[in-house]
Amino acid sequence: MTITHGFELLREHDLAEADSTARLYRHVRTGAELLSLINDDENKAFGIVFRTPPPDSTGVAHILEHSVFCGSRKYPLKKPLIELARGSLATFLNAITSPDRTSYPVASQNLQDFYNLIDVYLDAVFYPVLSRDTFEQEGWHYEVEERDAPFLYNGVVFNEMKGAFSSPEIVLDSWSAKLLTPDTVYSHDSGGDPKSIPDLTYAALKDFHRRYYHPSNARVFFYGDDDPAERLRLLDGWLAPFDRVAVESAIVLQPRFVEPRRSQHTYVAPADNGAPAKSFVQANWLLGEIDVAETYIGLIILENVLAGTPASPLYRALIDSRLGEAWAGSGLTVEFRQAVFSAGLRGVDAANVDKVEPLILDVLGALAAEGIDRSMVEASVNTIEFRRRENNTGSFPRGLQLMRRAVGAWLYAIPSRGSPSPRRSPPSRRASPQANAISKASSSNISWRIPIAPRLSCDRIRSRRRARPPRNAAGSMPFAPA
Ligand SMILES: [Zn+2]
Repeated sequence: MTITHGFELLREHDLAEADSTARLYRHVRTGAELLSLINDDENKAFGIVFRTPPPDSTGVAHILEHSVFCGSRKYPLKKPLIELARGSLATFLNAITSPDRTSYPVASQNLQDFYNLIDVYLDAVFYPVLSRDTFEQEGWHYEVEERDAPFLYNGVVFNEMKGAFSSPEIVLDSWSAKLLTPDTVYSHDSGGDPKSIPDLTYAALKDFHRRYYHPSNARVFFYGDDDPAERLRLLDGWLAPFDRVAVESAIVLQPRFVEPRRSQHTYVAPADNGAPAKSFVQANWLLGEIDVAETYIGLIILENVLAGTPASPLYRALIDSRLGEAWAGSGLTVEFRQAVFSAGLRGVDAANVDKVEPLILDVLGALAAEGIDRSMVEASVNTIEFRRRENNTGSFPRGLQLMRRAVGAWLYAIPSRGSPSPRRSPPSRRASPQANAISKASSSNISWRIPIAPRLSCDRIRSRRRARPPRNAAGSMPFAPA
C-alpha cells in the first residue's frame, strides 16, 4: 500500500464527461475520505461533509451549522464568514444543513484565496468556539420586552424556521416526511421545528459537534486546477491530530409499509378576504436506494415523462381536472437515502379533497397497464441527455455541482456498479436492493438537486422545495387549512 501524505489511494478513474481524473483516497489514521477531481477548471472547489443524523426536531444540526461560523480557534471573529465574503474572491461561500448531512462547500478562482477559505472552513468545523452566547444567539433564548411582559423566544435559527414554517409547502413537506419515513431520521426536521427548538440545550449542541464533526465521519472534496498533491499535504495537516473513532451515523432504511398510510393536518392559511382557505393534497411514494447509475437516470427520465412538461400525462391530468389550482409536490426528490416521488394539487376545495388520490392512481395505473407512448419517452431522453451534456450550472460552480452528485452514494458508501472495481472496497452499508419501477412503489439514491445561488444566508429551506412537481407505499396526504 502506497501512502502519500497520510492517504491511501482507493481507486482512480477517468471521468471523460467531467474532463477530470477522479481519485478516491482514505486518510489512514482517521478514516476520512477524500474525492479529488483533477482538471483544468480554474474555478476551484472544496467541500467537507459530515453525516449528521438529527436525533429530534430541535434543529441541532442546523444551529450547529450556523454556530461553527461564529468564531473558531484561529479565527475568533464573531462572523468570520461575513468578513471573508467581503474580502474574498470566492465564487461560492455557504453551508447547508440537509436532512442527514451538513455540508460546507466553497469555491474560488484565486489559488491563495482558495487556500485561505479552506483554512477558515476547516478551523470552523474542527475547532469552533461554540460559546453559550453563540448557542443563545444562533439557537434560541428568552427575551422580555418590558417589565411584567411575557417571555418571548428569539434566536437566528428559531426565527428563520418560524418564517419557514409559515409556508404551507414547508409544513406539508415536513408532515409528508414524517408520514413516509416514520422509522428514520427523516421523520425529524433537521432545520428545526420552532415548537421543538427551545428543547435544545447548550450541552446537546456541544455533544452533537463532538460526536459528528470528526474526521472519521467526514467526506472531503477537491476539484479544479490546484496542485493535487498539495490537497493531500494540506488536509493531512488538519486530520493528523485526530485518532480514528467509531461514529454511529449510519442512516437506516425505512421498511416498506404493507398498505398506504394517510394523514391529515391543518395549517395556518393567509387571510384572503374571507374566502374559504383551500387544501393541499399530495401523494408520496418511497422509492429505493439508487445503487446503479442507470436506475438514477431512469428515474429522472420517468419523472420527466410523468410531470416534466405541460403535456406530461400526470401533470396534465391533475391540472386539467380542475380539482385544484396548481401542482403540488416535489416530483422526484433524492435528498433522502431512499428516493421519494410526490405529486398532488394545491388550492383544492374541501369537496374535492378525496378525489385527488384516485385520479393520480388512475393515471399511473393506466400508464403501467398500457405503457408509455414511445415518442414521449424519446422526448424525455433527449431533454435529459441535452441537459446533462450541456451541464449548464449557471453561476453555480461546476465543481460543487459534481460534489453534489457524488456525495449521496458516497455518504452511504454505496459502491457504484458501473465503475471499475476499487482497489479496496469501501465499507458497504447498503441494504438489499429494492425493486425499480415507480409504479410498484419502489427504488433510488440521494444527491442535491437544487442549484444554490451564492449567498450567505441559510439554504436549507430551498434545498427541500422545488418550484414544481412530486414521497413510500403510496401515502396520500390531504392537507387542510386550520
Ligand atoms: Zn439557517
